[in-house]
Amino acid sequence: MVVVPGEKYLKFRCTGCGNCCKDPLLPLTDSDIRRIKRHTGEPSSAMVRWVDRNGIDMDDEPEAFVVLSQGKRVMVLRHEAGGCRYLGADNRCTIYNHRPVGCRIFPFDPSFTDDGKLRRLKLIDATDCKYELNGENDIAAIKELHAKHASTTLSYQAKVAKWNERQAERKKSGRKAQSAADFFEFLGV
Ligand code: SF4
Ligand code: SF4
Repeated sequence: MVVVPGEKYLKFRCTGCGNCCKDPLLPLTDSDIRRIKRHTGEPSSAMVRWVDRNGIDMDDEPEAFVVLSQGKRVMVLRHEAGGCRYLGADNRCTIYNHRPVGCRIFPFDPSFTDDGKLRRLKLIDATDCKYELNGENDIAAIKELHAKHASTTLSYQAKVAKWNERQAERKKSGRKAQSAADFFEFLGV
């Protein structure tokens, strides 16, 4: 019988401690922004915070950095009063059905074989996650979310690359990089 490393985490059960909504910063994609906006009607600037490389440990993902007039920044979900702005006083997400894909997959970090079998399962170590191992999770659901997270991230990063090329062209011709508002307009959000 093949032992899948981390298979025990299929028994992961979230206890609702809320720590993952208070502590780590969550990178957003344009698709996340569109979904939240459809629900809340808020402008993109209300849900986004821009962080530089000192504010988030993403040096191994240069594709996430957007060239803006203030420098290179990563687009993350805005925190207010010590947590995500959508975290309710009861530690529940107030936009649960519309939350970013990164929130949906958290804390699972799976990988799959070419023929679609679970190769290993890890938990993302980004916060003090107070989970129990007495739940049940469906591999097919984790796989679907993982694929969605990968595809929306890749699609966003392709847009960031295009934007960054445009900013490099501007700099070559002696102009300043554009603003975050211009970037939202470029994304159509
Ligand atoms: S959007 Fe909801 S699930 Fe995601 S960090 Fe905010 S409160 Fe938590
Ligand atoms: S940190 Fe872990 S246990 Fe706490 S709410 Fe998030 S996923 Fe659930």
